[in-house]
Order: sequence, then structure tokens, then C-alpha cells
Amino acid sequence: MKKVSIIAPCYNESQALTFFYKELKMHLPEIYKYEIILVNDGSKDDTLEIIKNIAANDSSVHFISFSRNFGHQNALKAGFDLASGDCAICLDSDLQHPPQLIPLFLEKWEQGYESVYTKRMNHDSISFFKKTTSKMFYKLTNRLSDIKLEDGVADFRLLDRKVVDALKDFTENHIFLRAVIQWLGFKQIMIEYKAAERIAGESKYTIRKMFSFALSGITAFSIKPLRFSIYLGSIIASLAFLYGVYALVINIFTDRAIQGWTSILMSVLFIGGLNLLMLGIIGEYLGKLFIENKKRPNYIISETDLIG
Ligand code: UDP
Ligand code: MG
Repeated sequence: MKKVSIIAPCYNESQALTFFYKELKMHLPEIYKYEIILVNDGSKDDTLEIIKNIAANDSSVHFISFSRNFGHQNALKAGFDLASGDCAICLDSDLQHPPQLIPLFLEKWEQGYESVYTKRMNHDSISFFKKTTSKMFYKLTNRLSDIKLEDGVADFRLLDRKVVDALKDFTENHIFLRAVIQWLGFKQIMIEYKAAERIAGESKYTIRKMFSFALSGITAFSIKPLRFSIYLGSIIASLAFLYGVYALVINIFTDRAIQGWTSILMSVLFIGGLNLLMLGIIGEYLGKLFIENKKRPNYIISETDLIG
């Protein structure tokens, strides 16, 4: 019998978790063996106790508990790292990702797709704010980085064992799974879904978290923003040069120039421009190092009943 791992990150989800678990169980086809991994991402409420309770009554349920909040992406990463199934499905624990789709995911997987991902259809239950910010985010990321992401793609997906194994090699901090998985390739298929309202509790993605998510999405995949500095530096350096020529002309051909003005102006402008240019070049190298040098662990596990 094939084994399917289900991964759900939970951060302060004590109100939603029991509903989620019940709903999830209802939609798991019986022809597979399951391993449900609930990842407690440093919750401050009694999420962990609830998870342990569920696990005590259901031997297919396992838990991973972080030493502190490491974020949604790292919670998913931990789930994938420790999952032992022939494929792994991840979904949010607030029922916004409908478990009803799981049978369809598995069907596609059986057809040979190695990565089944989903796209959120826009509809009324998603706030205008969320819709517009997410649209802006995708525009900006696609503009600034080297891969193309689709608007509304969610962390609600199925990955074949091959993809899960490939993912293990990614230990970069601020991991941006959506982009990494797209970058990995494999045989992919997209399914559209309607996001439901959150079952209970409230969104943990504060504006600050969304901003930092967007920023890591951009910077983890490109160093283009650093290049701006080079462009800006070159423009300013050439403008400075032109202005220098102008100052020189004033000095030589008119008597309007004050003594010493030209030389001071020219050196200030030139050095200023050069400075920015050099900063840009240093930034480019620094960016490369930054990308290479992400060697810290993505998360620290304080407790788990899975063996890594
Ligand atoms: N989550 C997490 N760590 C965090 C924030 C969120 O594990 O720091 C989980 C959360 O429990 C939920 C999923 O990630 O299962 C999505 O979070 P949320 O529903 O708050 O975001 P939204 O759906 O509003 O984008
Ligand atoms: Mg949610």
C-alpha cells in the first residue's frame, strides 16, 4: 500500500485544529496509508497539547514542535524533511485549503504528475486588501527575479517523493517554497480551487509578515535589486562628468567662476558618483556571497515523535 504524508503547519490554531483534523480525515481515500504531520510552529496557545491529544488517539498522526516561531515556510520545510510517504501533501490547518481536493491530487499523482499545485480563484471571501497586495507581490517578484510565479499560487500542493527528496538539499534561510519548487521543475499540473473562509481564529500573516515574505521572495531568487546601485551609480557618475565639463567651460571661457569652485565641484561630484558605483559592485559580490552562504538551519525542533 502506498503511503501518503499530509503536512499541516499550525501556529496558534487551537480553535481551528480539531475541525481541521475531522474534516481532513473525511477526505482521505482509503486505498492509501497515511502519515499526518502537524507542525507546531512555536504556538503561544495550547496548539501543541491539542496536537498531542489528536496524536494519542490516532496512530497515523505525528507532530513536530519548533523551539520558537520559524514561520510557515520553515514549518512546511520541516514537514517535507521528515515525511516518509511516497508523496507528500501540504495544506493550511485553518481549512482555507479545502481537503476535498486531496482525492483529486492523488488521482493526478497516480497519472504520473510529480508536482500538483493549486491556484486560488479570486472570489468575494478574500478581502480586497489581500487580493491587491498579492497581485502587487506577484507583479513585483516576476519583475525583479529570474523565475515566473503565477498569481494566487498557494502552498497547497502534492509533491512526489522525488521532489520531496530534491527539496531536502535546500537549506537556505528565508526559503520561499513556491519559487523553489517551481525552480526544481518536474512534471507539474495546476488545479484551481476556491479558498474558504478561515474556520476559526485569525490570519497570522500580519502586514509585516507579508512584507517580509515578499521581500524574501524577491531577494532569495535574484540579486537584480543590487544592480540598481550600479545603474544609479553609472548615471550619477556620467551626470557628474557632464556637469564637470560645464564647470570647466565656465572656468575657462567666462569670468563668473569663483576661485577653486570648479575643482571642488568636480572632485565632489566625481567621487560621489564613483562611490555609488563601487558600492554597487561590492553589493553585487556581497549578494553572491549572501546567496551562497546561507548555511544556518531553517528551524530547530524541540520535540517530535518522528525520527529524522
Ligand atoms: N502559520 C505558521 N507559522 C506562522 C504563520 C502561519 O505555521 O508564522 C500557519 C498557520 O497556522 C496556517 C498557515 O500557516 O495553517 C497559513 O497561515 P494563515 O492562515 O494565518 O495565513 P493566510 O491564510 O491568512 O494567508
Ligand atoms: Mg489562512
